[in-house]
Order: sequence, then structure tokens, then C-alpha cells
Amino acid sequence: MSKAIVSSLYDSDVFRMACRQFDKAADAINLPDAIRDRTKYPKRCLAVALPIKRADGSVTVFEGYRVQHNLSTGPSKGGIRFHQNVTIGEVAALAMWMSWKCSLVGLPYGGAKGGVIVDPNQLTPTELESLSRRYMQEMVNFVGPHTDVPAPDVGTNEKIMGWMMDTYSNHVGHVEPAVVTGKPIALGGSQGRKEATGAGVAYLAKKYLEDLRIPVAEATAVVQGFGNVGSESALALAGYGMKVIAISDYTGGIYNPKGIDLPKAQTYVQYQRVLRDFDGGEPISNADLLELNCTVLVPAALERVITDQNAGRLKCRVLAEGANGPTTNAADKIIEERGDIEVIPDVLCNSGGVIVSYFEWLQNLSSFYWDRDEVMRKLFGILDKAKDSVEYQKRKFKFSRRLAALTLGIQRVADAKECRGLFP
Ligand code: NAD
Repeated sequence: MSKAIVSSLYDSDVFRMACRQFDKAADAINLPDAIRDRTKYPKRCLAVALPIKRADGSVTVFEGYRVQHNLSTGPSKGGIRFHQNVTIGEVAALAMWMSWKCSLVGLPYGGAKGGVIVDPNQLTPTELESLSRRYMQEMVNFVGPHTDVPAPDVGTNEKIMGWMMDTYSNHVGHVEPAVVTGKPIALGGSQGRKEATGAGVAYLAKKYLEDLRIPVAEATAVVQGFGNVGSESALALAGYGMKVIAISDYTGGIYNPKGIDLPKAQTYVQYQRVLRDFDGGEPISNADLLELNCTVLVPAALERVITDQNAGRLKCRVLAEGANGPTTNAADKIIEERGDIEVIPDVLCNSGGVIVSYFEWLQNLSSFYWDRDEVMRKLFGILDKAKDSVEYQKRKFKFSRRLAALTLGIQRVADAKECRGLFP
């Protein structure tokens, strides 16, 4: 009987939530004790102090992390989050989910994640650049095209990835675009990467509506979070003919039963940075928004927003998890018992981002670039295959869709570890 001897380093609500998901999946597939703990726990992490000079001449030290959960199946892969509530436990949970996600969709990657405790909205553009470059400078010996490949997440974007790629390249003495993905096209970014996560969310939501025989043109959608994933999901859902009736960001939401003017909202956010005071509908709180009557609900902000407090009151038909970990274990149980909501679990639903990140990395390593049609065709092909494998697993073992997705992802990582032995 193996038993991990672990510290409380990662202990947090969100890490415990990811561990409970893992335990449930490991039990469901009878994962042997000998392989369990080394599949479950992160392989290694780095915590760094990041001093930067402020606009007023003072110096502030920020704290940053990178957690590499699994290095057995290829370089690790995962975004970098800039947010005031980042903890190493949250980063570890996100790294764990990246492992199952990459494995589920068949990418030759392990999972990783990074984070810095900072509210990027409080930094000047110059301070943001200094912090981004400083973070990569501290990570130079920990990441790399064949070790660990970061990407954008909450609070980071393609501009930041460009600064990080430049910092790494300057350090190694040659241009190394494959060290991060989600870069500007001018620096080797992929066509379609910016919209990939949202495009994947919307594509899968449409596919599940078709399975349910719900006409897409009669469907309504509600999207929480209007950053990269939320805004691109909303636009792509609308592109399929759905009416997006509510959107939100951390300043609150907008509800319009006639449909939100999304390009107008996007332009507004481009200039105002937030949705606050956008006049495209009635104001609505984030809590009320999640309980709106709609066909498709897309949480696309932070984790743990669907809880045992609101799960019983959701009024959607499809819950498309654009965010990572938006549904707590307790909420998951309530939704399962209700049986009237189709959940597209995060590891499947938002995998479009890492799939096109993989394409970007391939293009960088081969210096051969694809057009957008090719990127999108290949993305939807991988999503179709992953969806089919999840549905097959779900039917075969009478699992929930989340359990089906997690067991597939976890099994493949465990198999690779079994083949390789104890070291990786
Ligand atoms: P982002 O920073 O571009 O956008 C985040 C959005 O969420 C912003 O509109 C912000 O205002 C909003 N938000 C923050 N706190 C909120 C709150 N308490 N209530 C409501 N809205 C809030 O980040 P993103 O890249 O779009 O990531 C969103 C989610 O999608 C995260 O869970 C992330 O891990 C996940 N994800 C991102 C990608 C990617 O490619 N960027 C890929 C897969 C999954």
C-alpha cells in the first residue's frame, strides 16, 4: 500500500477540489496504489521574488510561481496567471487539470501552470512589462521549448507572451519562439490562437445542442467573464446563431433579452478596460447572471463560481465550462442528481486553447506556418475525436461526463508513468 507523505504546501480549497476529482476518477478506474500518488501530485515547483521599479521610483517585490505537475509525457504546458488572489495551491490545481486536459485530447505534453500575485490593472504598461520580463528571467532555467512551455491565462495576454519570448531569446542568444505560445502573430504566434479557446467552447456547445436536438438558432447563451475566453466564446456562439443575452466581468454584468451587441461590447472594453456602465442592457450581478434562464451557460472567469449554493437554481440546459474548475465538487453532485443539465467539463470544453498552442509550438519548431483554415480544421477535428472518446467512456462505464473525461486523461498519464518507471 503506497501512501504519499506530502506537506501542506499546496493546501487550499481549489487544490483539495482537484485532488477530490482525481481520487474519484482513480477509484473509478481502480488505479493501482503503486501509481496513484505519483500521478496525482505535482512533480516540482519554483517560487520566485520579482522586484520591479515602479513609476514613482520605488521598488516593489511581487511573488511568482511555476508548478510543473507532470513531465512524463512531454514538456509541460500551461498558462501564466496575473491575479491578486493567486496562491501556489491554485497554481498547482490548475497545473493538475492541464495534465488531464493535454492527455485527454492526445497532446504530447504534461501539465503546468504559473502565477504572480498582482492585480495587473494596478500597474502602468511599463511596470507590467518589467514584471513580465522579470518573471521570465527568473524562469529561464525552469522552462524551455522541450521542458515547459507557458501561455496566457487570466490577466496575461499575447503582448505579455511577446515580452516573455523576447526575454528568453535574449538570454539564450537566439530567437526561440517555441518557449511560449499565445504570442503575437508577428513573433511566431499562430493564426487562430487568440480565439481558439472560445471557438472550441462554442463549437462543443453547438455539437451538444445538436445531440440534444435543440435548434442552435433558437438557443440563448449567458457568458460570465468577458476576457479572452468569454468574449471569444460569446462571439463564436453568436456566430452559430445563438442569442447571447448576458455577459459580465469582475465589475458586474449586462442583461439584454433581445441579445447583446457583442462587437459594441468588445469595442467598449477595448477602450474602457471593463464592462462597467456599458449601456447595452440592464445591469445584473454576477450571482444573478449565473441563474438566468438560458440554453447555454458559459462560466469563463475564475474557478469555484458554481457551488452548492446556486447549483440547484441554475436554469441552463448545457453548462459549457470555459473557465478551469468553475464547478465545486458539491455543486457537481447536485447537478448530477438533477440530471437535467449537460455538463461539458473544463478539461474538454476549454481544451481548444492548448490544442492551438500545440499547433503554435509545432509551427515554431518547424518554422513552417499554417493558415487559419488549416488551424481551425485541425482544431475541430481533435475536439470531435475527444468528444467521441468521452461519450464512449461515459456510455461504457455509466460515468458522468466529467468522470469520463478525467478517467481518460488520468489513465493515459498513469500508463506513461508506468512504462517509464519511477524517475519522471
Ligand atoms: P482574462 O483575464 O482574459 O479574462 C478574465 C475575465 O474574467 C475578465 O473579463 C475579468 O473581468 C473576469 N472576471 C474576473 N473575476 C471575475 C469575477 N469574480 N466575476 C466575474 N468575472 C470575473 O482570462 P481568460 O484567459 O479569458 O481566462 C478565463 C478562464 O478561462 C480562466 O479560468 C482560465 O484558466 C481559463 N482558460 C483560459 C485559456 C486561454 O487560452 N486564455 C484556455 C483555457 C482555459
